[in-house]
Order: sequence, then C-alpha cells, then structure tokens
Amino acid sequence: MQANGKTIAVTGGGNGIGRELVLQLLAKGARVAALDISEDGLAETARLAAADAERLSTHNANIADRTAVEALPAAIIEAHGQIDGIINCAGIIQPFVKVNALEYSAIERVMNVNFWGVVHMVKTFLPHLLERPSAHIVNISSMGGFLPVPGQSIYGASKAAVKLMTEALHSELTDTNVRVTVIFPGAIGTDISKNSGLDAPTAAEAKESGAPEFKTTSPQEAARVIIDAMERDAFRATIGKDAALMDRLSRLMPERAAAIIYKQMRSLLAG
Ligand code: NAD
Repeated sequence: MQANGKTIAVTGGGNGIGRELVLQLLAKGARVAALDISEDGLAETARLAAADAERLSTHNANIADRTAVEALPAAIIEAHGQIDGIINCAGIIQPFVKVNALEYSAIERVMNVNFWGVVHMVKTFLPHLLERPSAHIVNISSMGGFLPVPGQSIYGASKAAVKLMTEALHSELTDTNVRVTVIFPGAIGTDISKNSGLDAPTAAEAKESGAPEFKTTSPQEAARVIIDAMERDAFRATIGKDAALMDRLSRLMPERAAAIIYKQMRSLLAG
C-alpha cells in the first residue's frame, strides 16, 4: 500500500523506530495517528513533526489494555475521517536474565505488550481495514523471533508468536484488500532498554563490564526499510546485515546459529 494520502496508525510512535515511522510517513504525504503509552514521547514526536502537524494526531494509550485499544478507531476516524493501515511497532524487552531467574510478572508484562498488544490492535482495526479499497497491516517482530537469544527467551517467544500470527494473517487475508507484512529488525540504535524500564548501562559502563559492543542500524534506516516493505506489499523484510545473515544461517544451521549468539551474549547474562 502506498503511504501518500492514506491514514496510518503507528504504535510506539513516541520513540525509536516508531517515531521515525511517523516522521517519514508524514514526509510521504500520509496522515498519521501516533499511539504510545508515553505522553512525553508523543509530545516530542509532535514537536519534531510540527511542519506536518495538520496531518498528525497523537493518542496516549496502552496497547496491552484491550478496552483502551477498542476506543482508538473512533478517535482516529474523528481526527482523519478514515483508517487505511496499522503499523504495530510498540514493544519492550525483558530483563537480561535466564528463564529460571525471570519473575512471572516480567514474563506477563512482555507477553501483554508484545503479543496481546498486537492481537488487540489487529482484532480492533481489521474490521475497519476490510472496508477500505486498499489497506495494510505491518507487524514488527524481531531477529529474536526466529533466533534463540539467551537472556531474551520470553521476548523471543513473544516475537515468534507475532511472526507466526502475521504470516498466517497474510494467508487468511489473501483474497481481501488487506495486505500483510512482517518485519525482522536486527540490532537498532534506540533506547529500548531504558524505555522497557530496565537499568540500561551507559555506553561507558557497558565497555567497562566487558559487554560486547554491537553494530546497530539507525532507527531512520529501520523506518525506511519498513515503509519500503509496506509500499512493495512485501511478505517479509529483515533490517540490518545482522538480521539478514542470521535469517539465512538459522534456517540452514539452526544449532550453529544458536551457538554463535550464545557466545556473543553470555557475558551479559545474569541468573
Ligand atoms: P523504543 O523503546 O525506542 O520505542 C518503543 C515505543 O513503544 C516507546 O515509545 C514506548 O513508550 C512504546 N510502548 C511500550 N509499551 C507500550 C504499550 N504498552 N503501549 C503503547 N506504547 C508502548 O523501541 P524500538 O527499538 O523503537 O522498538 C520498536 C519495535 O522494534 C519493538 O517492537 C521492538 O521489539 C522491535 N525491535 C527492536 C530492536 C532494537 O534493537 N531496538 C530489535 C528488534 C526488534
């Protein structure tokens, strides 16, 4: 689906990749509803989008709260007159500990946002999208949704669930006007640890602790790849060389791929 002239809702629009999606979609002539749990984040996105303010609405909502999500279509249609697409980008990571040491509350929180948040958005908006001449659902999974990352087991499980649900939705909606795309970012340079409520070390602390330094893709480039995939009606897209490489390796040699990631991550692991 082409972005120009469409109304697209972006979850996680208050930070990181979601914010860049909002800005780039506006630059392409779309109308955008930015959704986020962070009011400050939304305010900053709106400030950065000031030149296109007339085509932007912001909505403070928790996607894990089904009732709050179910109130969104009416607010978006009131602001823009229609809704043609959703990009489910909001997400959180888990504390870097093994499953054995991970609290149930952390497990539930990750599943509630990353899995149930996407389910709420899809179930709520799909009836509206089916009414449009052309519509699109883009769900952001992760490299961790096909590759086992120790210390992010539950995060990975939530993203694997998003992957499979999205791929099956693609099939279910084949004979409709709604196209579906799943995205697998590798490491992206955002503040996702801090925004997930974790005590993220500063770059200097990380270096001191001997934690591995990862090459990251910028959130701007991530947003560009996501919008390009939507506009090409792609079934799937990876972001970054890391995701592209591990995508291939994890299918050809799954155990080897798991061992490579374990070696990289073990110094970060607690529990
Ligand atoms: P980010 O923290 O910069 O942005 C995420 C946004 O989602 C934040 O503004 C946050 O407030 C919002 N959010 C969190 N919980 C929410 C909730 N319950 N309801 C509404 N909004 C909520 O993170 P990011 O790096 O831009 O990540 C975006 C997506 O990309 C996530 O789904 C993430 O899992 C995925 N991803 C990120 C990376 C990475 O390395 N950063 C890698 C792979 C996948």
